Amino acid sequence: MNIAHWLLDAAQRWPRRAALFEGLRRVADYQTFAVQARARALQLRHGFGIAPGERVALLMNNSCGYLELLYAIWWSGAVAVPINSKLHALEAAWIAGNAGARLIYTDDGRVFEGTELPPGCRELATPALGTFVPVPGEELLEPHPRQDSDLAWLFYTSGTTGRSKGVMLSHGNLLAMSLCYPLDVDPVAAGDAVVYAAPLSHGAGLYNFIHVRCGARHVVPVSRGFQAQELFELAQGLGQVSLFAAPTMVKRMVEEARRQGYDGQGIKTIVYGGGPMYLADLAQALDTFGPRLVQIYGQGECPMTITALSRETIADRAHADWPGIAASVGRAQACVEVRVVDAAGQPLAPGEPGEIAVRGTPVMQGYWDNPQATQAALVDGWLRTGDIGFLDEQGYLSLTDRCKDVIISGGSNIYPREVEEVLMQHPEVFEACVVGEADAEWGESVVAFVVLRSPDSLDAQALNQWFLTCMASFKKPKKYLFCTELPKNSYGKILKTRLRQWLKDPSQSLTNL
Ligand code: AMP
Repeated sequence: MNIAHWLLDAAQRWPRRAALFEGLRRVADYQTFAVQARARALQLRHGFGIAPGERVALLMNNSCGYLELLYAIWWSGAVAVPINSKLHALEAAWIAGNAGARLIYTDDGRVFEGTELPPGCRELATPALGTFVPVPGEELLEPHPRQDSDLAWLFYTSGTTGRSKGVMLSHGNLLAMSLCYPLDVDPVAAGDAVVYAAPLSHGAGLYNFIHVRCGARHVVPVSRGFQAQELFELAQGLGQVSLFAAPTMVKRMVEEARRQGYDGQGIKTIVYGGGPMYLADLAQALDTFGPRLVQIYGQGECPMTITALSRETIADRAHADWPGIAASVGRAQACVEVRVVDAAGQPLAPGEPGEIAVRGTPVMQGYWDNPQATQAALVDGWLRTGDIGFLDEQGYLSLTDRCKDVIISGGSNIYPREVEEVLMQHPEVFEACVVGEADAEWGESVVAFVVLRSPDSLDAQALNQWFLTCMASFKKPKKYLFCTELPKNSYGKILKTRLRQWLKDPSQSLTNL
């Protein structure tokens, strides 16, 4: 099934229901949204000659027009290639070339003026919203027919381990992923408003489908990005707001809410994931916003749908095992099986750390034009995630690290996440990130980058004392580097690679290499 059928269905059922909002301003109902998507689908087909299965890239900041274009692409049977809008034009051109995109939409149509686009690819400015002309005729009154296995979204990975790879997500993958949301994350009601404060090209964009299916409101902040204050105003103005946020965004929301005495009014749910949420930060978020938090763990290759940690479980602080459970990423979602395997792919016993493997309907079809990488990632029907973790007896999965982030010091495996958790428990520590540094004696040694709440309030000795109270001495950082901020990508993930590069060459700026 073509996933754009969900838009057609919503438009038929609730033509006048509010669909798209720019800030507090309603800009389209469901009928307009669907009519516009069809009109643009016809334009793609006849104006630009895009055939079903061909790729159309989007290099844009969040906007309602972005959602409209996505649906136009699917309605026409083509494949969307949403690209992180913060990428350099050269990186984006590489992705467009790799995907064989015929068109690339940008905000102003002038991103590639000084950069060569691959042959056969043309840049277009995003059309203004609401400029549709109703199209007569019978063609594409319904979305172009698609099989579940047909490609819908080419999702380019952030490429931290080399060139970015195009994850092939089919219409069936997107359907399976979306159906898990109301089961495992949060039931969706018609009056809900999903706010896109994180990039539509990533996880936040993947949550549009279930909200279209349920006829909910879609809201793009006027800033087109994340500003805590603006979010609070939207929540209070619109009510029943839910959003996907990286842990760093949640942390900033908590800080801002505390400053102004805001308690989360108007927010229904904050779904967090994409990186580790430290226990100390989670406790503060619960104190500030109450039971409004749900966690998910996923990756582009199995989008948003490996595990979930429910609102009730997160909020149940009276539970004897709360610290362990709240620091986990929860239990397998409804459409997947999750296990932890050794190097040979054999399942490990509860408590034993190994690579996390997942199998089920949302798992990608493979990497675009990269059979070698596909073969390495999909083994005997299981996706090897490259994440290390362990399951407990109850089926809760805890993530320790990415395979490549594990530090091996003197033959012992040290999981940075564990060391970071201890640092983050210290009331003076605002942020921390732990990486390994080459060490002649130990192979690797543990280095902690630390951002303090107030400069100079702690030194290495004080932190060493702190570790003595709760952690084996061999895991204690050998070196602390105090800095004012940590380098992050546009999704809010701390760039460990950049920290490692800096250790090798400290003459470069830490946040802007
Ligand atoms: P991406 O494919 O860019 O979404 O990145 C996926 C990776 O982010 C995963 O493989 C994990 O390493 C990490 N990640 C995702 N969700 C979580 C989570 N809830 N807790 C910790 N790490 C996460």
